[in-house]
Amino acid sequence: MARARPLYGRGYRFDSCRGLVITIAFDVDGCLIDENDEPRADVVAALVQLSWLPGIYIIVWSGCGRDYARMIGQRIGVDEHVRQYASKLDGMRPDITFDDQPVNLGAVNIQV
Ligand SMILES: [Mg+2]
Repeated sequence: MARARPLYGRGYRFDSCRGLVITIAFDVDGCLIDENDEPRADVVAALVQLSWLPGIYIIVWSGCGRDYARMIGQRIGVDEHVRQYASKLDGMRPDITFDDQPVNLGAVNIQV
């Protein structure tokens, strides 16, 4: 039987003050906001609650680019919980992703 591989096996960050850092990236379109451009309360709540945990580094990213991700993050009120905005094209590989599509962009990918 295959054993589960630890999350820190790939692309982890280490912060000298806080120890292991787990990066969690949230997609924008269809994930943080729905098809009517309204915030998805369940996903926004997950982002906020995860951001309160020690060692969690929240990224909001989009295929439409970093500036778009920042604009939406600020508009839906999660800016203070976000450590970084990014483009999905930047080549980052987070530990965990939340996305409305079945993606393989992180070590663990959660479709919401
Ligand atoms: Mg999407």
